[in-house]
Amino acid sequence: MEPVGLKEIKSKAPFTLPPLPFSKEALEPHVSKNTVLFHYEKHHQTYVNTANQLISGSQFENAELEQVIKATSENPEFSKLFNNAAQVWNHWFYWSCFDPRGAKSPPLKVQSAIESAFGSVEQFKNEFSAAATAQFGSGYAWLVQEGENLRVITSSNAQSPIALNVKPLLGLDVWEHAYYLDYQNRRKDYVGAFVNNMINWEFVEYNMER
Ligand code: MN
Repeated sequence: MEPVGLKEIKSKAPFTLPPLPFSKEALEPHVSKNTVLFHYEKHHQTYVNTANQLISGSQFENAELEQVIKATSENPEFSKLFNNAAQVWNHWFYWSCFDPRGAKSPPLKVQSAIESAFGSVEQFKNEFSAAATAQFGSGYAWLVQEGENLRVITSSNAQSPIALNVKPLLGLDVWEHAYYLDYQNRRKDYVGAFVNNMINWEFVEYNMER
């Protein structure tokens, strides 16, 4: 099933904010409506607006988002554009990783890949949670696929799988703005709520197959 917002994320500049794939209160009680409202309507929207302002009149007019991210990565002249463009993509991916219907089991194909890589789904959850909790400062935890193998990585600030040339299956925003209103300093509880109640396994499967 094609994820919501794919059309917006694959379109050319100027970019538009991809629709949220669920209602703002859909993640309660784990992530509050207030957190989603600020995170989506303020943070995510601002990354879109700032990227568009920086692109206007530049060589990136009419470029696709992923092209912008790749071309500006590790180029100090374009660090502000990289950060904002990468955050547009990262947040689209992040919202897609939530299943508001509650805890589900992974589809068989995903489950067997996870068992090969981590031993069990529980072991994967433990490893992902530990990485997300230990990431120092702002960033993300990702489940990525390399050939047949899966592994967990983290990235700092706006760094994106698009720039790292890895294939992401799942991603979790651990910037304080993602959880501070609900969990304050307790990032571990936010991460635990995600891995135990909200992973969108269908999106993981979609990413494995694309
Ligand atoms: Mn964020």
